[in-house]
Amino acid sequence: MSSFIEVRNLEVQYERGKKNIFEKTNSFNAVDNVNFDIQKGKIFGLVGESGSGKSTLGKALLAAKEYHRGSIHYHFQEGMINPNHLPKNLLKLFRSKVQLIFQDPYNSLSPRMTVRDIIAEPLESLGITSSKKETDDRVIEIAQKCQLNINHLNRFPHSFSGGQRQRISIARSLVAKPEFIVADESVAALDVSIQAGILQLLKNIQQEMGLTIMFISHDLSVVANFCDDVAVMYLGKIVELAPTKKLFTDPKHPYTKALFQSIPSIHPDTQTTLQTLEGEIPSIYQKPQGCVFQTRCPIVSSRCKVDQPSMKKHNKHQTACFYST
Ligand code: ADP
Ligand code: MG
Repeated sequence: MSSFIEVRNLEVQYERGKKNIFEKTNSFNAVDNVNFDIQKGKIFGLVGESGSGKSTLGKALLAAKEYHRGSIHYHFQEGMINPNHLPKNLLKLFRSKVQLIFQDPYNSLSPRMTVRDIIAEPLESLGITSSKKETDDRVIEIAQKCQLNINHLNRFPHSFSGGQRQRISIARSLVAKPEFIVADESVAALDVSIQAGILQLLKNIQQEMGLTIMFISHDLSVVANFCDDVAVMYLGKIVELAPTKKLFTDPKHPYTKALFQSIPSIHPDTQTTLQTLEGEIPSIYQKPQGCVFQTRCPIVSSRCKVDQPSMKKHNKHQTACFYST
């Protein structure tokens, strides 16, 4: 059986821009030779420090950012779609099947639109419903699923709490019945006590609708109980990818191990040897030669400074390190 989404050798560039007239315009890879599959109905977690390329990868998957090398393929029932350079007729179909849950529930909802209009917007812009009644019915159905009070749909976002605003944002993302969702730091702006409720809601809806989700978070403890598989990104590369349980019980890449050691709540026995990574994350404009992690790695060798380790697979567990055990 083929995967729902296949990403192969993906590279996504930005222009760095010129600092002065003598400098050539530099482009750099924010996503660098990335490979993974996402199975239908699964939650795929993407973790890594700020700047590692998570949002850029999510945008490439949603056709919100062009990629310049490699491929992304979606296997929809209607056929295979590649989000780069989609013709207009397919772009509309694609837009109805994939959605983003906004990152920040405080700033992403238009203050001048009612909640009803915010949730209805994808239905109207994609021309999915043909009457106001049909739109209203769909809005009410999804608002109820997201545990919003349907008597408050004519209010404006400012009268809602952060958690409720995130439910509005989720309802908006789901109203067109997409098959795939990118949730980019969707609970990061919320209090821990509210996060759990939003995650539970997402999981319930995901199971009910058979949704496939890419769940992006800088926080490993949030992905622990939520994702089926987790990929760890560092400087634009995936350095480890495994089913969540395997990653949490047997992390192999030195970077993943260091990330775990910075969250004692997950590995209480490591509390006494709690370490943080040494050194700064290198500039994305000047990635080190060889392994991207070598400048901070506790087990670096001379080989790591010359050769780039590729992802090696062992029992569904992939890691890009010469010495991972
Ligand atoms: P993350 O989501 O993991 O924090 P991003 O994907 O946002 O990382 O960013 C990856 C890298 O690309 C960062 O170095 C960031 O500064 C850079 N970047 C992001 N967006 C742009 C842009 N529009 N133009 C130029 N560089 C960008
Ligand atoms: Mg981001």
